[in-house]
Amino acid sequence: MTSGAEIELIKVTKRYGPALAVDSVSLKIPGGTYCCLLGPSGCGKTTTLRMIAGHESVSEGDVRLGASVVTDLAPAKRGTAMMFQSYALFPHLDTVDNVAFSLKMKGVEKGTRRAKAMEMLKLVQMDHLAERRPAQLSGGQQQRVALARALITDPQALLLDEPLSALDPFLKIKVRQELKKLQLQLGISFIHVTHSQEEAMALSDLVVVMNGGRIEQAATPREVFNRPATAFVARFMGDHNVISGRVSKKDGATVTFEVPGGASFVAPEDQAVEVGAPIEIAVRTDRVHLADSTLHGCGLTGLVQNIEYHGQRVQVALSAPGIDEFSVQVPETAFFAKPLSVGDAVPLAWTADDVHILQKS
Ligand code: ADP
Ligand code: MG
Repeated sequence: MTSGAEIELIKVTKRYGPALAVDSVSLKIPGGTYCCLLGPSGCGKTTTLRMIAGHESVSEGDVRLGASVVTDLAPAKRGTAMMFQSYALFPHLDTVDNVAFSLKMKGVEKGTRRAKAMEMLKLVQMDHLAERRPAQLSGGQQQRVALARALITDPQALLLDEPLSALDPFLKIKVRQELKKLQLQLGISFIHVTHSQEEAMALSDLVVVMNGGRIEQAATPREVFNRPATAFVARFMGDHNVISGRVSKKDGATVTFEVPGGASFVAPEDQAVEVGAPIEIAVRTDRVHLADSTLHGCGLTGLVQNIEYHGQRVQVALSAPGIDEFSVQVPETAFFAKPLSVGDAVPLAWTADDVHILQKS
Protein backbone atom coordinates (compact mmCIF):
# COMPACT_ATOMS: atom_id res chain seq x y z
CA MET A 1 0.00 0.00 0.00
CA THR A 2 0.96 3.62 -0.22
CA SER A 3 2.68 5.45 2.59
CA GLY A 4 1.32 8.84 3.46
CA ALA A 5 2.62 12.16 2.21
CA GLU A 6 2.63 15.35 4.27
CA ILE A 7 -0.29 17.70 3.68
CA GLU A 8 0.16 21.42 4.14
CA LEU A 9 -2.40 24.19 4.11
CA ILE A 10 -0.75 27.54 3.44
CA LYS A 11 -2.91 30.51 4.44
CA VAL A 12 -5.98 28.86 2.97
CA THR A 13 -9.03 31.12 2.85
CA LYS A 14 -12.56 30.50 1.61
CA ARG A 15 -15.04 33.28 1.03
CA TYR A 16 -18.71 32.87 0.15
CA GLY A 17 -19.50 36.39 -1.04
CA PRO A 18 -18.50 38.66 1.82
CA ALA A 19 -18.61 35.83 4.38
CA LEU A 20 -15.35 34.17 5.46
CA ALA A 21 -15.94 30.43 5.96
CA VAL A 22 -12.22 29.66 6.38
CA ASP A 23 -9.84 32.43 7.38
CA SER A 24 -6.17 32.07 6.44
CA VAL A 25 -5.66 28.59 7.85
CA SER A 26 -2.10 27.25 7.95
CA LEU A 27 -1.50 23.67 9.04
CA LYS A 28 0.95 20.82 8.48
CA ILE A 29 -0.27 17.24 8.76
CA PRO A 30 2.68 14.82 8.64
CA GLY A 31 2.24 11.63 6.55
CA GLY A 32 0.58 8.77 8.39
CA THR A 33 -1.30 11.00 10.85
CA TYR A 34 -4.78 10.45 12.24
CA CYS A 35 -5.95 14.07 12.27
CA CYS A 36 -9.34 15.30 13.50
CA LEU A 37 -10.74 18.69 12.57
CA LEU A 38 -12.81 19.49 15.64
CA GLY A 39 -15.16 22.37 16.36
CA PRO A 40 -18.78 23.48 16.67
CA SER A 41 -21.21 23.53 13.76
CA GLY A 42 -20.39 26.21 11.17
CA CYS A 43 -16.74 26.71 12.17
CA GLY A 44 -15.42 25.71 8.73
CA LYS A 45 -14.48 22.03 9.14
CA THR A 46 -16.31 20.68 6.09
CA THR A 47 -15.17 23.58 3.91
CA THR A 48 -11.55 22.96 4.94
CA LEU A 49 -11.87 19.24 4.19
CA ARG A 50 -13.49 19.91 0.82
CA MET A 51 -10.70 22.32 -0.13
CA ILE A 52 -8.12 19.61 0.69
CA ALA A 53 -10.10 17.17 -1.48
CA GLY A 54 -10.56 19.67 -4.32
CA HIS A 55 -14.37 19.58 -4.15
CA GLU A 56 -14.32 23.24 -3.16
CA SER A 57 -12.12 25.93 -4.71
CA VAL A 58 -9.71 27.93 -2.59
CA SER A 59 -10.24 31.73 -2.51
CA GLU A 60 -6.66 32.39 -1.35
CA GLY A 61 -3.71 30.26 -0.32
CA ASP A 62 -2.41 26.85 -1.34
CA VAL A 63 -2.78 23.17 -0.58
CA ARG A 64 0.34 21.00 -0.82
CA LEU A 65 0.42 17.21 -0.84
CA GLY A 66 3.93 15.80 -0.56
CA ALA A 67 6.10 17.68 -3.05
CA SER A 68 3.21 18.94 -5.20
CA VAL A 69 1.01 22.00 -4.88
CA VAL A 70 -2.45 20.59 -5.69
CA THR A 71 -4.52 23.77 -5.25
CA ASP A 72 -5.75 23.78 -8.85
CA LEU A 73 -5.93 20.01 -9.46
CA ALA A 74 -9.20 18.09 -9.91
CA PRO A 75 -10.13 15.83 -6.95
CA ALA A 76 -9.26 12.59 -8.77
CA LYS A 77 -5.76 13.87 -9.62
CA ARG A 78 -4.74 14.89 -6.09
CA GLY A 79 -4.00 11.60 -4.39
CA THR A 80 -6.71 12.15 -1.79
CA ALA A 81 -10.01 10.31 -1.48
CA MET A 82 -13.12 11.43 0.30
CA MET A 83 -15.80 9.36 1.98
CA PHE A 84 -19.05 11.29 1.90
CA GLN A 85 -21.44 11.61 4.82
CA SER A 86 -24.30 10.26 2.68
CA TYR A 87 -22.08 7.40 1.37
CA ALA A 88 -23.36 8.27 -2.16
CA LEU A 89 -23.48 4.65 -3.38
CA PHE A 90 -25.06 3.80 -6.76
CA PRO A 91 -28.36 2.02 -5.98
CA HIS A 92 -28.32 -0.08 -9.17
CA LEU A 93 -24.80 -1.46 -8.68
CA ASP A 94 -23.86 -4.30 -6.37
CA THR A 95 -21.19 -3.90 -3.70
CA VAL A 96 -18.26 -5.01 -5.80
CA ASP A 97 -19.19 -2.78 -8.76
CA ASN A 98 -19.73 0.20 -6.45
CA VAL A 99 -16.23 -0.27 -5.07
CA ALA A 100 -14.69 -0.86 -8.53
CA PHE A 101 -16.43 2.17 -10.07
CA SER A 102 -13.51 4.61 -10.12
CA LEU A 103 -11.25 1.96 -11.71
CA LYS A 104 -13.89 1.38 -14.40
CA MET A 105 -13.83 5.12 -15.13
CA LYS A 106 -10.07 4.88 -15.53
CA GLY A 107 -10.52 2.04 -18.04
CA VAL A 108 -9.10 -0.70 -15.84
CA GLU A 109 -10.05 -4.12 -17.23
CA LYS A 110 -12.95 -5.92 -15.52
CA GLY A 111 -11.08 -8.88 -13.98
CA THR A 112 -8.38 -6.62 -12.53
CA ARG A 113 -10.77 -4.06 -11.09
CA ARG A 114 -13.05 -6.70 -9.53
CA ALA A 115 -10.03 -8.41 -7.93
CA LYS A 116 -8.86 -5.10 -6.49
CA ALA A 117 -12.41 -4.33 -5.29
CA MET A 118 -12.57 -7.70 -3.51
CA GLU A 119 -9.24 -6.93 -1.82
CA MET A 120 -10.67 -3.63 -0.54
CA LEU A 121 -13.87 -5.35 0.62
CA LYS A 122 -11.76 -7.84 2.60
CA LEU A 123 -9.99 -4.91 4.22
CA VAL A 124 -13.32 -3.57 5.53
CA GLN A 125 -14.74 -7.06 6.21
CA MET A 126 -17.43 -6.84 3.55
CA ASP A 127 -16.23 -9.44 1.04
CA HIS A 128 -19.05 -11.83 2.04
CA LEU A 129 -21.66 -9.31 0.87
CA ALA A 130 -20.04 -8.47 -2.47
CA GLU A 131 -23.18 -9.29 -4.51
CA ARG A 132 -25.68 -7.21 -2.56
CA ARG A 133 -27.05 -3.85 -3.66
CA PRO A 134 -27.00 -0.83 -1.29
CA ALA A 135 -30.71 -1.23 -0.41
CA GLN A 136 -29.93 -4.72 0.92
CA LEU A 137 -27.26 -3.42 3.31
CA SER A 138 -27.53 -1.78 6.74
CA GLY A 139 -26.28 1.77 7.23
CA GLY A 140 -23.08 0.49 8.84
CA GLN A 141 -22.47 -1.92 5.96
CA GLN A 142 -23.07 0.80 3.35
CA GLN A 143 -20.50 2.88 5.15
CA ARG A 144 -17.92 0.11 4.87
CA VAL A 145 -18.61 -0.12 1.13
CA ALA A 146 -18.14 3.65 0.84
CA LEU A 147 -14.87 3.30 2.73
CA ALA A 148 -13.65 0.53 0.40
CA ARG A 149 -14.68 2.63 -2.61
CA ALA A 150 -12.61 5.57 -1.36
CA LEU A 151 -9.57 3.41 -0.58
CA ILE A 152 -9.45 1.63 -3.95
CA THR A 153 -7.65 4.60 -5.52
CA ASP A 154 -4.67 4.05 -3.11
CA PRO A 155 -4.92 7.59 -1.73
CA GLN A 156 -2.16 9.35 0.19
CA ALA A 157 -4.85 10.64 2.54
CA LEU A 158 -8.42 9.61 3.27
CA LEU A 159 -10.85 12.42 4.08
CA LEU A 160 -13.90 11.65 6.22
CA ASP A 161 -16.69 14.10 7.02
CA GLU A 162 -18.50 13.17 10.27
CA PRO A 163 -18.25 9.45 9.43
CA LEU A 164 -19.68 8.28 12.76
CA SER A 165 -22.53 10.76 13.22
CA ALA A 166 -25.27 8.52 11.76
CA LEU A 167 -24.35 5.46 13.85
CA ASP A 168 -25.92 4.43 17.16
CA PRO A 169 -23.70 4.86 20.25
CA PHE A 170 -22.61 1.23 20.42
CA LEU A 171 -21.73 0.94 16.72
CA LYS A 172 -20.05 4.34 16.88
CA ILE A 173 -17.40 3.06 19.27
CA LYS A 174 -16.88 -0.14 17.28
CA VAL A 175 -16.46 1.67 13.94
CA ARG A 176 -14.24 4.25 15.63
CA GLN A 177 -11.86 1.49 16.69
CA GLU A 178 -11.95 0.00 13.21
CA LEU A 179 -11.12 3.32 11.55
CA LYS A 180 -8.11 3.75 13.82
CA LYS A 181 -6.95 0.19 13.12
CA LEU A 182 -7.37 0.70 9.37
CA GLN A 183 -5.38 3.93 9.45
CA LEU A 184 -2.51 2.26 11.32
CA GLN A 185 -2.61 -0.70 8.92
CA LEU A 186 -2.55 1.50 5.78
CA GLY A 187 -0.07 4.03 7.17
CA ILE A 188 -1.70 6.92 5.29
CA SER A 189 -3.21 10.04 6.88
CA PHE A 190 -6.88 10.08 7.78
CA ILE A 191 -8.40 13.54 8.11
CA HIS A 192 -11.63 13.18 10.01
CA VAL A 193 -14.14 15.97 10.64
CA THR A 194 -16.09 15.79 13.89
CA HIS A 195 -17.86 18.02 16.41
CA SER A 196 -17.33 15.43 19.16
CA GLN A 197 -14.49 16.12 21.60
CA GLU A 198 -14.59 12.52 22.76
CA GLU A 199 -14.24 11.18 19.21
CA ALA A 200 -11.33 13.51 18.42
CA MET A 201 -9.52 12.64 21.65
CA ALA A 202 -10.00 8.91 21.12
CA LEU A 203 -8.76 8.81 17.53
CA SER A 204 -6.26 11.55 16.88
CA ASP A 205 -2.53 11.89 16.70
CA LEU A 206 -3.27 15.53 15.88
CA VAL A 207 -6.38 17.45 16.98
CA VAL A 208 -7.10 20.69 15.13
CA VAL A 209 -9.60 22.78 17.10
CA MET A 210 -11.40 25.29 14.86
CA ASN A 211 -13.60 28.27 15.70
CA GLY A 212 -15.04 30.88 13.33
CA GLY A 213 -12.98 29.70 10.33
CA ARG A 214 -9.69 29.79 12.24
CA ILE A 215 -7.49 27.29 14.05
CA GLU A 216 -7.46 27.83 17.82
CA GLN A 217 -5.02 25.01 18.53
CA ALA A 218 -3.38 22.11 16.66
CA ALA A 219 -1.74 19.64 19.01
CA THR A 220 -1.86 16.12 20.43
CA PRO A 221 -4.97 15.15 22.42
CA ARG A 222 -2.94 15.24 25.65
CA GLU A 223 -1.70 18.76 24.95
CA VAL A 224 -5.17 20.00 24.04
CA PHE A 225 -6.58 18.42 27.19
CA ASN A 226 -3.82 19.50 29.59
CA ARG A 227 -2.87 22.82 28.06
CA PRO A 228 -5.78 24.27 26.07
CA ALA A 229 -4.28 27.26 24.25
CA THR A 230 -7.25 29.59 24.43
CA ALA A 231 -10.42 30.14 26.47
CA PHE A 232 -12.40 28.79 23.51
CA VAL A 233 -10.51 25.48 23.55
CA ALA A 234 -10.69 25.24 27.35
CA ARG A 235 -14.45 25.73 27.30
CA PHE A 236 -15.09 23.61 24.22
CA MET A 237 -13.16 20.62 25.56
CA GLY A 238 -15.28 20.92 28.70
CA ASP A 239 -12.73 19.81 31.29
CA HIS A 240 -11.56 23.23 32.44
CA ASN A 241 -12.95 26.23 34.23
CA VAL A 242 -12.05 29.55 32.66
CA ILE A 243 -11.55 32.41 35.12
CA SER A 244 -10.99 36.05 34.13
CA GLY A 245 -8.93 38.35 36.28
CA ARG A 246 -6.06 40.81 36.41
CA VAL A 247 -2.35 40.29 37.11
CA SER A 248 -1.51 41.80 40.50
CA LYS A 249 2.07 40.60 40.99
CA LYS A 250 4.91 38.86 39.17
CA ASP A 251 7.38 36.88 41.17
CA GLY A 252 10.05 34.91 39.32
CA ALA A 253 8.32 32.11 37.43
CA THR A 254 4.86 32.72 38.89
CA VAL A 255 2.21 35.37 38.62
CA THR A 256 -0.48 36.28 41.11
CA PHE A 257 -3.79 37.34 39.74
CA GLU A 258 -7.01 38.61 41.23
CA VAL A 259 -10.62 38.03 40.28
CA PRO A 260 -13.25 40.78 40.63
CA GLY A 261 -14.61 39.10 43.80
CA GLY A 262 -11.33 39.80 45.61
CA ALA A 263 -9.77 36.32 45.71
CA SER A 264 -6.27 35.91 44.29
CA PHE A 265 -4.39 32.89 42.90
CA VAL A 266 -0.92 31.94 41.83
CA ALA A 267 -0.22 30.51 38.37
CA PRO A 268 3.01 29.54 36.58
CA GLU A 269 3.94 32.23 34.05
CA ASP A 270 3.56 29.99 30.99
CA GLN A 271 2.58 33.01 28.89
CA ALA A 272 4.37 36.32 29.17
CA VAL A 273 2.06 38.75 31.00
CA GLU A 274 2.33 42.24 32.46
CA VAL A 275 1.28 43.49 35.87
CA GLY A 276 -2.15 45.11 35.59
CA ALA A 277 -3.05 43.23 32.41
CA PRO A 278 -6.35 41.35 32.15
CA ILE A 279 -5.82 37.60 31.76
CA GLU A 280 -7.76 34.38 31.63
CA ILE A 281 -6.65 31.20 33.32
CA ALA A 282 -7.83 27.60 33.02
CA VAL A 283 -8.23 25.27 35.99
CA ARG A 284 -8.89 21.57 35.41
CA THR A 285 -12.26 20.52 36.79
CA ASP A 286 -10.80 17.32 38.26
CA ARG A 287 -8.00 19.12 40.12
CA VAL A 288 -10.08 21.35 42.36
CA HIS A 289 -10.31 20.22 45.96
CA LEU A 290 -13.49 20.98 47.82
CA ALA A 291 -13.28 21.76 51.53
CA ASP A 292 -9.74 20.39 51.78
CA SER A 293 -7.94 21.87 54.78
CA THR A 294 -4.57 20.26 53.94
CA LEU A 295 -4.17 22.48 50.86
CA HIS A 296 -4.05 26.17 51.51
CA GLY A 297 -7.12 27.52 49.83
CA CYS A 298 -7.35 30.31 47.31
CA GLY A 299 -9.63 32.44 49.44
CA LEU A 300 -12.60 31.47 47.35
CA THR A 301 -15.79 29.98 48.69
CA GLY A 302 -18.16 28.30 46.30
CA LEU A 303 -21.88 27.89 46.72
CA VAL A 304 -23.12 24.52 45.43
CA GLN A 305 -25.70 25.08 42.68
CA ASN A 306 -26.14 21.66 41.15
CA ILE A 307 -24.94 18.08 41.60
CA GLU A 308 -24.89 15.48 38.81
CA TYR A 309 -24.00 11.84 39.28
CA HIS A 310 -21.84 10.65 36.34
CA GLY A 311 -20.86 7.21 37.64
CA GLN A 312 -17.10 7.30 38.12
CA ARG A 313 -17.34 10.96 39.01
CA VAL A 314 -19.81 13.39 40.51
CA GLN A 315 -19.99 16.81 38.91
CA VAL A 316 -20.55 19.69 41.30
CA ALA A 317 -21.46 23.08 39.81
CA LEU A 318 -20.76 26.09 41.99
CA SER A 319 -20.94 29.85 41.88
CA ALA A 320 -18.36 32.07 43.54
CA PRO A 321 -17.81 35.83 43.87
CA GLY A 322 -16.44 37.18 40.58
CA ILE A 323 -16.83 33.81 38.81
CA ASP A 324 -19.98 32.96 36.87
CA GLU A 325 -19.64 29.24 36.66
CA PHE A 326 -17.31 26.76 38.17
CA SER A 327 -17.47 22.96 37.86
CA VAL A 328 -15.64 20.37 39.87
CA GLN A 329 -15.36 16.67 39.09
CA VAL A 330 -15.11 14.66 42.30
CA PRO A 331 -14.28 10.92 42.19
CA GLU A 332 -17.41 9.00 43.20
CA THR A 333 -15.96 7.43 46.35
CA ALA A 334 -14.49 10.74 47.55
CA PHE A 335 -17.80 12.50 47.02
CA PHE A 336 -19.81 9.98 49.01
CA ALA A 337 -17.24 9.92 51.81
CA LYS A 338 -18.21 13.54 52.48
CA PRO A 339 -21.38 14.27 50.46
CA LEU A 340 -22.42 17.81 49.60
CA SER A 341 -25.89 19.24 49.04
CA VAL A 342 -27.18 22.12 46.94
CA GLY A 343 -26.77 25.34 48.94
CA ASP A 344 -23.63 24.23 50.83
CA ALA A 345 -20.78 26.72 51.00
CA VAL A 346 -17.36 25.10 50.46
CA PRO A 347 -13.83 26.47 50.32
CA LEU A 348 -12.10 25.76 47.01
CA ALA A 349 -8.43 24.90 46.69
CA TRP A 350 -5.98 23.92 43.97
CA THR A 351 -2.27 24.07 43.38
CA ALA A 352 -0.49 26.44 40.97
CA ASP A 353 0.48 23.44 38.82
CA ASP A 354 -3.16 22.80 37.94
CA VAL A 355 -3.65 26.30 36.55
CA HIS A 356 -2.39 27.73 33.31
CA ILE A 357 -2.62 31.08 31.59
CA LEU A 358 -4.59 31.21 28.33
CA GLN A 359 -3.55 33.03 25.16
CA LYS A 360 -5.86 35.66 23.71
CA SER A 361 -7.91 34.19 20.83
P1 ADP B 1 -18.81 22.96 9.64
O1 ADP B 1 -18.52 21.80 8.74
O2 ADP B 1 -17.72 23.23 10.63
O3 ADP B 1 -20.15 22.84 10.30
P2 ADP B 1 -18.89 24.48 7.17
O4 ADP B 1 -17.53 24.35 6.63
O5 ADP B 1 -19.95 23.61 6.55
O6 ADP B 1 -18.87 24.29 8.74
O7 ADP B 1 -19.38 25.98 7.03
C1 ADP B 1 -18.59 27.08 7.42
C2 ADP B 1 -19.34 28.36 7.13
O8 ADP B 1 -19.46 28.55 5.74
C3 ADP B 1 -20.75 28.40 7.68
O9 ADP B 1 -21.02 29.67 8.13
C4 ADP B 1 -21.60 28.04 6.48
O10 ADP B 1 -22.88 28.58 6.60
C5 ADP B 1 -20.82 28.66 5.33
N1 ADP B 1 -20.99 27.91 4.07
C6 ADP B 1 -20.65 26.62 3.85
N2 ADP B 1 -20.92 26.26 2.57
C7 ADP B 1 -21.45 27.36 1.98
C8 ADP B 1 -21.93 27.64 0.66
N3 ADP B 1 -21.90 26.72 -0.31
N4 ADP B 1 -22.40 28.89 0.42
C9 ADP B 1 -22.41 29.83 1.40
N5 ADP B 1 -21.97 29.63 2.64
C10 ADP B 1 -21.50 28.42 2.94
MG1 MG C 1 -19.65 20.04 8.44
